[in-house]
Amino acid sequence: MNLIRQAADIATRLLWYTRMLEVARRLLASRGRFVLVFHGVAGRRYKDIPHAVQPWHTAAEFQQTLRWLATRFSFLTPEEFFRGDQSGVLLTFDDGLANNVTHALPVLEEFEAPAVFFVSTQHVIAPRNWLPQKRRQARRHWAREENVPEEIAVEFFDGMSVDQLVDCGIHPLITIGAHTVSHPLLTQCDDQQLTYELIETRKFLRAVTGQPVATMAYPTGDYDRRVATAVRDAGYQAAFAVDSRRVGMPLFEIERLGLYEAHPAYLAAKLSGLYRRPIREPLLPEQHKIGHGSG
Ligand SMILES: [Zn+2]
Repeated sequence: MNLIRQAADIATRLLWYTRMLEVARRLLASRGRFVLVFHGVAGRRYKDIPHAVQPWHTAAEFQQTLRWLATRFSFLTPEEFFRGDQSGVLLTFDDGLANNVTHALPVLEEFEAPAVFFVSTQHVIAPRNWLPQKRRQARRHWAREENVPEEIAVEFFDGMSVDQLVDCGIHPLITIGAHTVSHPLLTQCDDQQLTYELIETRKFLRAVTGQPVATMAYPTGDYDRRVATAVRDAGYQAAFAVDSRRVGMPLFEIERLGLYEAHPAYLAAKLSGLYRRPIREPLLPEQHKIGHGSG
């Protein structure tokens, strides 16, 4: 009995908390913009594999997230986001995993939600040339990469193929952005490596998609003033971080919110405007450049 009462009490508090967060969202966040960052989306949850090894979302959870978002926010195109004359959310995906195409894209299509795919190119050139953190995840559970079952390798760790990248490049909802070649911590690269990571990835993405590549996202959100300056000097017109390190280059340190769960209370908290202030100001006076730049 006591347990039931306790559970009811917790449920009531959760409900109250969620409602308060909804009120906060209407007050603080309804007139701003958020950039959201997602990573992998798996077809389903695998019971016998540790949660930490699996992609953060399943397709069903991602669908639940977009359903929650769709009733509260507009889905913005990158152009609308930079222009800043309407509120809403810009969806972004980091890394360029194959599962973004197989599992996230159909859900984006269902909701007609535009998204930016920030693609690391090493695992597009060779899908099994996994990014460093994917290698670590694979080794943590299977000891050796070659022990990973084929189905799981494709679902969790592979980069998108060149054909998938071509399809994304011409897809009306998808904009391709850069995410370096090999996903290093850019603050730890010397100048020569930094230039290579920034220039080669864009060259490859542009050659495959035939589209300009105007924006990039820092791997693991890692940047400093030197890195942001190199990104600007390489010809990118904007760059996305996670937390701003406030180096005085607002266009090259755009903040994003990582979403790692689909629970409504979690979404309400993250998007309340309390966790992170929404972006209110236009970010690019010369917004006509985005998507039409030197790419
Ligand atoms: Zn990444």
